[in-house]
Amino acid sequence: MQDFVYNGNPGRVIFGSGTVSRLEDEAERLGAKRLLVLSTPEQVGQAEDIARHLGTRVVGVYSKATMHTPVDVTSDAMSVVEKLGADAVVSIGGGSTTGLGKAIAFRTDLPQIVVPTTYAGSEATPILGETENGRKVTKSDARILPEVIVYDIDLTMTLPVSMSVTSGLNAIAHAVEALYARETNPIISLLAEQGIAAFAQALPAIARTPDDREARAKALYGAWLCGVCLGSVGMALHHKLCHTLGGMFNLPHAPMHTAVLPHAVAYNASSAPEAMARVAKALGADYAATGLFDLASGLGASMALKSMAMPKDGIDEAVDQTMSNAYWNPKPLTKDGLRQLLLNAYEGTRPRHA
Ligand code: NAD
Repeated sequence: MQDFVYNGNPGRVIFGSGTVSRLEDEAERLGAKRLLVLSTPEQVGQAEDIARHLGTRVVGVYSKATMHTPVDVTSDAMSVVEKLGADAVVSIGGGSTTGLGKAIAFRTDLPQIVVPTTYAGSEATPILGETENGRKVTKSDARILPEVIVYDIDLTMTLPVSMSVTSGLNAIAHAVEALYARETNPIISLLAEQGIAAFAQALPAIARTPDDREARAKALYGAWLCGVCLGSVGMALHHKLCHTLGGMFNLPHAPMHTAVLPHAVAYNASSAPEAMARVAKALGADYAATGLFDLASGLGASMALKSMAMPKDGIDEAVDQTMSNAYWNPKPLTKDGLRQLLLNAYEGTRPRHA
């Protein structure tokens, strides 16, 4: 066995159905008396329901969370935090809402309770990606890690099938890159394999029957496992590329991950054969890259960045920006290799067996 270092992130996790009823007890445990509830504009109804449920402990609802955590939205939210004297945030939604809660916590060290409604996994990480002037900058800090996660399967039942599929692939991406991470270790690899397998089983069932509770529970469990992977070990090419593309072209996060992942995996395949074998096994496929492509496209996901309004002439700029940030990847990065990778993802072609 290889030597390894394992770093566990602290955090309390409540998982089940009807668990939002435990939010008040969780606020009490944190000693929080002035909660600010966060959401996107689309989920303000859910946020207000939960605020009603929490009663007088809630001092306000802020519903302008936006994808890729723009710094100007955070500044606006910070003025609300200060005006209302909030002493904790409750983030209800996907990674965009969790991102806003994290950005506030980074600036104030306020405790966070997160109620995730997608499979993005941000709730389990001390990582924050903020966007300003077309650049997404990532930081990692103990203040960013949410104190409590309340997974409530009931709140995921409304996630449309198309978003369930792409959000699931976003989660799988965390596990895939954890399997070939520089800091890979046996515990995280176990979680990664289990996380991928959970989605490989749950997503087809959700696509067939969106209100299949067992499948929804399995997917949410997989989201947690994959989120722990993302929060525990460093990511590589796939995540860096998606950060670059997201910041530059404001592409939709989960669909972009879905389209890029098979090609990033194909790029790295020859340098990480053991990880690829574990991904393929978890998917029940012959090869990792084609297995990922077939899972997503078979469930109706768009596999072409061009369908997400990515400009074709942006490929070279994205390659240059990716090359300018030196970071570890199992396979050395070359300009030509990255250009071909992005061209394939742009067109949505099925990768070769890899
Ligand atoms: P999202 O949070 O932007 O949600 C997409 C849309 O779906 C929003 O309109 C949202 O309100 C809606 N929605 C969410 N849950 C729903 C539900 N159950 N039913 C109906 N509608 C629902 O999307 P996302 O993919 O979860 O998050 C993307 C963001 O998260 C990006 O900014 C990304 O960078 C960030 N992220 C960060 C990390 C991290 O560790 N820092 C990890 C993953 C993602």
